[in-house]
Amino acid sequence: MLGAIIGDIVGSRFEFNNTNRLDFELFTPECSFTDDTICTIAIANALTSGDKNYKEELHRWCNAHRFPMGGYGGSFARWVASSNPQPYNSFGNGSAMRVAAIGWWFDTLEEVQAEAEKTALPTHNHPEGIKGAVATATAIFLARKHGKESMLTALKDFYPTWVEPQLGKNPFNETCQGTLPVVLGILNKAHNFEEALRYAIAVGGDSDTIGAIVGSISEAIWGIPEEIAQTALSYLPETMRKVITDFHYALKQPTNSATSSITTYDLNRFIEAQERDYTTALHEIQNGRKVSHWIWYIFPQRKGLGHSHNSKFYALDGVEEARAYLEHPILGERLRTICRALLTHAGKRDIEHIMGSQIDVIKLQSSMNIFNKVAPGDVFQQVLDAFF
Ligand SMILES: [Mg+2]
Repeated sequence: MLGAIIGDIVGSRFEFNNTNRLDFELFTPECSFTDDTICTIAIANALTSGDKNYKEELHRWCNAHRFPMGGYGGSFARWVASSNPQPYNSFGNGSAMRVAAIGWWFDTLEEVQAEAEKTALPTHNHPEGIKGAVATATAIFLARKHGKESMLTALKDFYPTWVEPQLGKNPFNETCQGTLPVVLGILNKAHNFEEALRYAIAVGGDSDTIGAIVGSISEAIWGIPEEIAQTALSYLPETMRKVITDFHYALKQPTNSATSSITTYDLNRFIEAQERDYTTALHEIQNGRKVSHWIWYIFPQRKGLGHSHNSKFYALDGVEEARAYLEHPILGERLRTICRALLTHAGKRDIEHIMGSQIDVIKLQSSMNIFNKVAPGDVFQQVLDAFF
């Protein structure tokens, strides 16, 4: 959910002063967190505290930050100020911009959607307000489980028509039904976290909130570049940083209802297959020529690349399974070792010659791409740079 906060901070200085350029500076002294961050933190805090009282946490956090940059929308400001706040049938995009944590915390689509609805109800009890929250949380959940393409296909059920991003052309529209088609058009076009974020701002309109929603889903698709994450955190007070830390810590605990990469995935299928073939595979790569068949479980690829039994059985479910794979004490180290063996041929041998066929070159590239996403700066980037 840090992606939402990043989008909010980066977009904050453009909300009432739009830009139509993509090459703006992401972070300047004029940037600040706004209502989108405060509400995102509130929902996350309702999860980390264990009580799931979204209404109470929203009210508490917004009252602790009464005058953020950009202020609160009129009706929401009255809700915050009220001692007995009641839902006001909103279909504003506020229900979508605050829901990110839900998409990460729960491990089934049913739970994600049910809880997303509950986060909307205290204020946004209009069907379009609820739909905006449910669609955004669904997008995050599906992106982290199955990747961008599956997510976009599923989101057609919520919003069949998307807006092709055009710089500076997006009118100011604070509704869910006006904002989500813009968000999906941007995600469809972009290739990485930063590009998506830049489009979110440069299309114009309600920049910080489009930034927050695009950022929240982009995080689940691509992950967040470390430098951007660290810079954004420096804009937040200690109280908010603590919620983020607690949230990420809880996500890693196997006993939590949240996902756990260690318990969710059956990595033994790789161990068993490698017991048989890893030594052979390593020798072949060291010798500069793959001659036997082991690509699926030595350089695992993202699901959807192939249709054979092996392709499907050994496919990685997404970035989270790739992360679990890399964190596995045997599998992670073996993968790095064989990558280093590949690199000894850099500049000397053609990659198609080494891998033995064009299809295995594609599989290798897919494998390096997904692991590079999990561990940027590791040996996988070097393989991509050397051969692709
Ligand atoms: Mg805002």
